[in-house]
Amino acid sequence: MAGNRQHGFMRGNASGRNGSGVAKAFYCTACDKTHSATVEKVGISETGEIICNKQYLKMMDIKFDVQNKKVAGYKQLLNLKGSVMSDSVEGFKARVAFVKCAFEHDLVKELSSGSNSRHFSSCFEMNDADKVTAEVIRASRDSYWLRYSLIKNLGQQLFKYWEESTITH
Ligand SMILES: [Zn+2]
Repeated sequence: MAGNRQHGFMRGNASGRNGSGVAKAFYCTACDKTHSATVEKVGISETGEIICNKQYLKMMDIKFDVQNKKVAGYKQLLNLKGSVMSDSVEGFKARVAFVKCAFEHDLVKELSSGSNSRHFSSCFEMNDADKVTAEVIRASRDSYWLRYSLIKNLGQQLFKYWEESTITH
């Protein structure tokens, strides 16, 4: 997709950028289906994807909400961190919840250093790392915000790798 990736969200122009006035049907990544030309679309430059306006508004709603709840998210991480290194079903659940929470609450940067970074990396260092990432990818199919956060924080390449290893599980 053309456009300046630095700008984050980039609103599409329903009437067509070239002034052609012809809107086309498009594939919406968030809904995982093709919408007709009458549906308003939004280009998300950070993911390089197009989604419908309805999903865009839903994502923005979550985005603003999680920014107000970063502390709550951080507390959730602290509650989980005691379990993430456990080699048990509970440990697996805690790892999935920890990773999901980190991306959902946009706390990945905060976790990249400091005392909790060890717990974050532990989530991917147990034998079930592929299963953990598969669970997170599955959750991202219901939440474009989570997908957005994953792509933004992991980068396109690593995200693709996570997605591809999900298919094989
Ligand atoms: Zn849609």
